[in-house]
Amino acid sequence: MATLNAAPAIVVLGPSALATARRIQACYPGARVHGLHPRIGSDDADERYDALGPHLRELYARGTPLVVLCAAGIVIRSLAPALADKGVEPPVLAVAEDGSAVVPLLGGLAGVNVMAREIADALQTAAAITTSGELRFGTCLLNPPDGYALASIEQGKHFVSSLLAGEAARLEGDAPWLDGTGVPLADDARLAIRVSELTSEGSADELLIHPRCVVVALNTRGERMADDVRRMLDAHHIAMRSLATLLVPRRLIGDADAVEAAASLGVPLRYVATHDHGNDDPHAMLAAAAIPVRYRALDAGDSAAIAVCEQPIDPLRIGRARGRLSVVGLGPGDAALRVPAARRALDDATDIIGYATYVKMAGPFRDGQQLHGTDNREELQRARHAFELASEGRRVAVVSSGDPGVFAMAAAVLEALDGAADPAWADVELEIVPGVSAAMATAALAGAPLGHDFCIVSLSDNLKPWRTIETRLRHAAEADFVIALYNPISRARPWQLDRALDVLRAVRSADTPVVLGRDVGRPGAMLTTTPLGALRADQVDMRTMVIVGSSQTRKVVYPGQREWIYTPRWYPGDPDDGNGNANPADRPA
Ligand code: SAH
Repeated sequence: MATLNAAPAIVVLGPSALATARRIQACYPGARVHGLHPRIGSDDADERYDALGPHLRELYARGTPLVVLCAAGIVIRSLAPALADKGVEPPVLAVAEDGSAVVPLLGGLAGVNVMAREIADALQTAAAITTSGELRFGTCLLNPPDGYALASIEQGKHFVSSLLAGEAARLEGDAPWLDGTGVPLADDARLAIRVSELTSEGSADELLIHPRCVVVALNTRGERMADDVRRMLDAHHIAMRSLATLLVPRRLIGDADAVEAAASLGVPLRYVATHDHGNDDPHAMLAAAAIPVRYRALDAGDSAAIAVCEQPIDPLRIGRARGRLSVVGLGPGDAALRVPAARRALDDATDIIGYATYVKMAGPFRDGQQLHGTDNREELQRARHAFELASEGRRVAVVSSGDPGVFAMAAAVLEALDGAADPAWADVELEIVPGVSAAMATAALAGAPLGHDFCIVSLSDNLKPWRTIETRLRHAAEADFVIALYNPISRARPWQLDRALDVLRAVRSADTPVVLGRDVGRPGAMLTTTPLGALRADQVDMRTMVIVGSSQTRKVVYPGQREWIYTPRWYPGDPDDGNGNANPADRPA
């Protein structure tokens, strides 16, 4: 694999490396600059980390290619405890922070030398290539390009040693990437480089490379799918590594066994609809999948057929994928307050849809990701658009700030689905990724005002009558809930907040603490506390979260500490003594 599937993490320790990091980043769509906190500000890095060693080890364990802008020794020492299986490690490079040196360290089989050359080109310097095969032949024979896989690394190593000792090889099959390299080729050579989908006995005299050129169409379902595929490839002496994709009928969308089978075979799962009224003849499936190169079809029983293509194929062009719609909560703003599953859904998406401000907040994006920023008021239309794209097989992320289920897109998406008539929407894999909601983010800044029973009320009367809001506020105040107010005020709703405060003041005392969080988790964040009696509507705007305490909400004033607001876990009249001791049955876990 010369081209990498995962974008590298470019790791910097200090601001002096940032310029070089950005130049490297420009070579790799989706690459992210990781900066050491607090030396690198949040605006200067796409991600920040607290300690280099654990961070590098974690990325390495995940298989993320690493470009680290510091001394090679530091990288080696950091990764030493994690060095394990040489067959699967990602590329790791050290780059001088001024861009004057590029040193490939690990990941010879994952294309580290290719990366080293790419980065060196971008930085107009030379890569410190030390691999002897690579130096002699100008290519790493053990690392064929995308679309090809080596049959055996061990066998390959013997083979390369023989070439280094002065032997030549004959080429059987197509290996266009060897053109123009220094690999010594001769038709009468004893050694052979063989490019074929067929397995072989395995000999040290042969370098066997499997093109990913095989598609299996299978129309059965059940737990045995992967085993069936293995057996049928075996019967035709076809190497597993040549399998490019598993093709199943569209009616199996959502079938967990098919997903499991493709995962176990290590190939993408693709779906195809035939026009034979659900019979799904496997040869008809291959024909309908629009395989872009010529292929020979082999019979494999009634339920399967094998296509052997003349060249490696891109599985993403065979049939179609199952579309996915992820409704993603971005948290209040700061990427550090975003759950990792949200980042993953965003990175994985082909399309990102949302209110333009939030789409911007969801970056950085890779090349080719389609951004659909819309006006804030078109939620239902936006949700339908998301379903339409996803039902074409695209992976769509619909973004909301905070949590998508709190006055945001998750409900709009389900509303669009509820009563929709398009059968293609049923094929969409729908997921909702939670986020840190504004009330939680604000509460954490202030202390723990939501430490006891609380409720959340939106003051927006766009989608519900004002009467209902007043009734709810009165009941919530009477029940002594802490009340978190979302959408407190806007230009179109100027008087509502004052009315709401009147309702609350009628029940709750004037010295009840109120927390105001404005732009929490965003640049210019502001936190204010004020007694309910003194709160004025002009202290609040639509970017503010208002948390009105209960009768128990209080301040902690502790020498040396800043002021904290909290609501105790206990309540007067409770058998609990306030230390969580009296009533074991009530004690929190
Ligand atoms: N889904 C969002 C809420 C959307 S409603 C969430 O879970 O947070 C929009 C309201 O949320 C705003 O009017 C404001 O009251 C509040 N809000 C959203 N983001 C905020 C932030 N960063 N700081 C303070 N309040 C915020």
